[in-house]
Amino acid sequence: MAVRFCPIASGSSGNCIYAGTESTNILFDAGLSGKRIKEGLDILNVDGTNIDALFITHEHSDHIKGAGIISRRFDIPIYATEGTWEAMENTIGNIGRRNKKFIYSGEPCVINDMCIMPFDIPHDAAEPVGYSIFAKDFKMTIATDLGHVTDTVKENIQGSDVLLLESNHDVDMLKCGSYPWALKQRILGDKGHISNETAGKLISEIMDGKLKHIYLGHLSDENNEPHLAYETVKSILNENDIKVGTYLKMDMASRYSNSCPVIL
Ligand SMILES: [Zn+2]
Ligand SMILES: [Zn+2]
Repeated sequence: MAVRFCPIASGSSGNCIYAGTESTNILFDAGLSGKRIKEGLDILNVDGTNIDALFITHEHSDHIKGAGIISRRFDIPIYATEGTWEAMENTIGNIGRRNKKFIYSGEPCVINDMCIMPFDIPHDAAEPVGYSIFAKDFKMTIATDLGHVTDTVKENIQGSDVLLLESNHDVDMLKCGSYPWALKQRILGDKGHISNETAGKLISEIMDGKLKHIYLGHLSDENNEPHLAYETVKSILNENDIKVGTYLKMDMASRYSNSCPVIL
């Protein structure tokens, strides 16, 4: 087995992504119960004690709910920016000094045969980051919780073989839905989340010969539907002469269970 990438869950109710090689196993975010994360790892045949690192994107609960639990249970080091550490420390509970690791946006972090590059994302959290993951000759990128698309986001997504991209909401569903006005403004704002349409446009812009697998993820429970996100993005790609289904695969990252892994 070479390189594997698998969203264990992705959505506004919880996020946890696995990426690994024969010798290295890494999790990105742990916004699920410890039990659910273990179940996800079992399906991938990965023992919790073999997880080498847990990288956190930001302190919102859908990204850190189970972080402290699995770190203590399996002795996993947690990697996060200084701002994220400060913001999440009270919530995740005591983490020994040995397992408290700092990362810096734009500075690569090597874990065995994998290299993780954190990059700034615009989101209403203390110091949020997305991650590009390099293993063998492959690049995988996790870009969710994006208020809008910045040059930094585009640059870091570029050249990925696999991309997990936020496709959070349908703008009309959000505008007409039951969320209070302030929450709608937050989601639509510069530091909220990107819509299906924005996701489609972004993929069209950065599309190159390398990108072969897209997961659309971090869907809103109330303001989106998987088929709507898929069809909206697909039709924008079609308009830009990008055909989904042959060279380029596109999947919906599942909210509640492991998605089908990509094996590179
Ligand atoms: Zn968030
Ligand atoms: Zn989130």
